[in-house]
Amino acid sequence: MEPSEFHEKIEKSRLVSQLKWVAENSQFYQSLIGKEILISASKAGSVSGLQFTTKADLLTDQEKHPPFGSNVCVGLDEISRIHKTSGTTEKPLLILLTEADIKDAINAGGRAFQSAGLKPDDIVVHCLNYCMWSGGLTDHQCLEGTGASVVPYGVGNSTELVEMIISLGVTAIHCTPSYLTKLWDIITQGFDLEPKDLPLRLGLFGAEPGLQYPGKRQQIEQDWGIIAMNANYGVSEVLSIIGSECEARDGFHYMGRGSLVAELYQFESDQYIPLRKGAVGELTLTNISKKAQPLIRYRTADIIDIVDTDPCTCGRSSFRFHIKGRSDDMIVIGGINVFPSAIERICSELLDQLNGEYQIVLKTPPPHENLLLRAEYRSDLKEEKLKELKSTLEKVCRNKIGFRPDIELLHQGSLPREDGKSRRVIKSY
Ligand SMILES: [Zn+2]
Repeated sequence: MEPSEFHEKIEKSRLVSQLKWVAENSQFYQSLIGKEILISASKAGSVSGLQFTTKADLLTDQEKHPPFGSNVCVGLDEISRIHKTSGTTEKPLLILLTEADIKDAINAGGRAFQSAGLKPDDIVVHCLNYCMWSGGLTDHQCLEGTGASVVPYGVGNSTELVEMIISLGVTAIHCTPSYLTKLWDIITQGFDLEPKDLPLRLGLFGAEPGLQYPGKRQQIEQDWGIIAMNANYGVSEVLSIIGSECEARDGFHYMGRGSLVAELYQFESDQYIPLRKGAVGELTLTNISKKAQPLIRYRTADIIDIVDTDPCTCGRSSFRFHIKGRSDDMIVIGGINVFPSAIERICSELLDQLNGEYQIVLKTPPPHENLLLRAEYRSDLKEEKLKELKSTLEKVCRNKIGFRPDIELLHQGSLPREDGKSRRVIKSY
């Protein structure tokens, strides 16, 4: 039996039981989809034709049925953990997990970090927020799942962090790419050191896009003397970690096998997109082994493109994908659709002059005529080069995204640095 046939067989049988479980236990889905429809879907072993679930559906439900909503399929006695989503753009969602749900998340996440190169003899410092966020404790356990020694650090206390990395001989760091910029300032200003003097060999990055742009990754690797891996793509209400790169670094390997059914859909054209090389669509996910709060055809809002579905040179056979952007982040400027990620990509191509920190400012409510791009330039860039840099940026934007934004170049350190996710799009109206 081929690996893909083997997985399909297991996933189908899990889906059958999951849909039956949801039909019998989830008040939320009994009213959103209907018990009879769910039972028929279970008998057919397919989610085809079922209504999609959005984050807005879940938020409304939690508001109506506080505190946890009506999609809770077990009693509180079976719940082991309560997380919440990070809520950068809206109200956070509460996430309940049973012991088995946690094990499932650790299983997928452990495979993800292993794929990104974390080894049992590594000491890894975990610098994501532990305060209720699944990127904290659950990701911590995923790191442990590789056999590595994990230092539970969280966010803040950055000076002590640098001291600890040196004194313990920490070899790997798990954080957001933007946190590195903050650490950079501390290392170069507070210590008489260069980032590459630290014992780190591996950087595991997640929670923010950015590393998929070759310029940004190259710059990090050069400046820090580490291998930089995109190691953590997740949708915490579905599964903490769903994707990670391998040494081939050709997109995220899908890590949801055995836990999820993945589908692609184009909602503007109401079209199901077969999951094959080159396909582009919104990733929608169905839990197939979750007890507490299972989700069916959940819209992640992430637009992905499929790099390949054939086995990878690393030996893994799961499909690989890139994230193009978020369907709800798309900004329309003078009729042109722009993903903030396209602007990030442009900034990352000029990392010999920019330091990668940027903000997109929208000054008036939609329809937007233009946007203001505020970008920090590298501290080693001469002032007389600024005019030239500005016109280069304008030219590149015009060529790549079809319009010329207003541009403001700022000194290194002018934009706020955040410990968690940086806010890139600011609505100042
Ligand atoms: Zn691979």
